[in-house]
Amino acid sequence: MSRFWSTIVSELTPYTPGEQPQLNNLVKLNTNENPYGPSPRVLDAIREAASDDLRKYPDPNAQQLKQAIADFYQLHTEQVFVGNSSDEVLGHTFRALLKHDQPLLFPDITYSFYPVYCKLLEIDYQAVPLRSDFSIALQDYRADNGGIIFANPNAPTGMLAPEQELRKLLQRNTDSVVVVDEAYGDFADFSAVSMVEEFPNLLVIQTLSKSRSLAGLRVGLAIGDAQLVEALERVKNSFHPYALSKLAIAGASAAFRDRLYFEENVAKVIETRERTRRQLQHLGFEVLPSQANFLFARHSTEPAAGLYQSLRERNIIVRYFDAPRVDQFIRITIGTDQEMAVLHDALQNIINRSASGHANL
Ligand SMILES: *Cc1c(COP(=O)(O)O)cnc(C)c1O
Repeated sequence: MSRFWSTIVSELTPYTPGEQPQLNNLVKLNTNENPYGPSPRVLDAIREAASDDLRKYPDPNAQQLKQAIADFYQLHTEQVFVGNSSDEVLGHTFRALLKHDQPLLFPDITYSFYPVYCKLLEIDYQAVPLRSDFSIALQDYRADNGGIIFANPNAPTGMLAPEQELRKLLQRNTDSVVVVDEAYGDFADFSAVSMVEEFPNLLVIQTLSKSRSLAGLRVGLAIGDAQLVEALERVKNSFHPYALSKLAIAGASAAFRDRLYFEENVAKVIETRERTRRQLQHLGFEVLPSQANFLFARHSTEPAAGLYQSLRERNIIVRYFDAPRVDQFIRITIGTDQEMAVLHDALQNIINRSASGHANL
């Protein structure tokens, strides 16, 4: 605290990202990164962009990247916005489209960055409870609102609100923007991108950090009606016009041009997810039905905080949220098959020791 701080800074509770320990021999399953590297074509494109040309500013409109995304989804570039991470795109969205007189609505359990943005940008919000099975109750989003946002699949549950329920919400809620944060959408059965032509108030936000193995490059995007995109451009160009570096534009464009690598990568992660889910169930876990690249699970007898600690002592890092309704769960990112085998052995060991009364020895 300092007398030089603005009032808003003194009152902030910043988002706490999952830790990024600088150790090598860790099984790191805590921040939903992809266990496989990006496409070799991405790395080639970045190497090629690493040239004398870096002395010049990048294209502020990142047209090359917008075109690659528009081609991938069969859209127009006017329907595509790109930013320096989807967290940044979300920030612009809150400012440009979700700050109104009526409160913003989002689930009580969801990406914990949303309330942080509300505080920073002074946006009033109302949390709408998930159902008791942790699914998003879209039929409950009926209050007058200045906007609606949720992650689909949701975080940290991994659960997907079905297409029919989203469609009904969009048909009913036509006077404010509905934002679907699809950070994990590529691992799920459907994407709302196919609905943007039909609903001019739908904005879909995606990231290259998870399904495209590029968390380190920092690129995110939004897809929606050209007028929604224009609002985001106006905020972005009042804040950070050269948001994407030349390296980011080159790498991200190559990622969208290499469809085959992307599809194979996603398929591998899903296969490992399903095998891991069955293994956890055998170990006595209840696992929420995930359509993301992580699993949210609680054990029938072992408290989650203890599991988290015991895994840590074995150099395995998962995520634990000490928050109402979810403090009996651990969130496990899907890693390689080998990492999942290490996790499985460790959990088996921890649970067996505990069952035979050796927990405190
Ligand atoms: C990971 C994540 C993001 C942020 O992605 P970045 O592009 O890496 O900033 C946004 N929303 C949700 C729900 C996420 O899980």
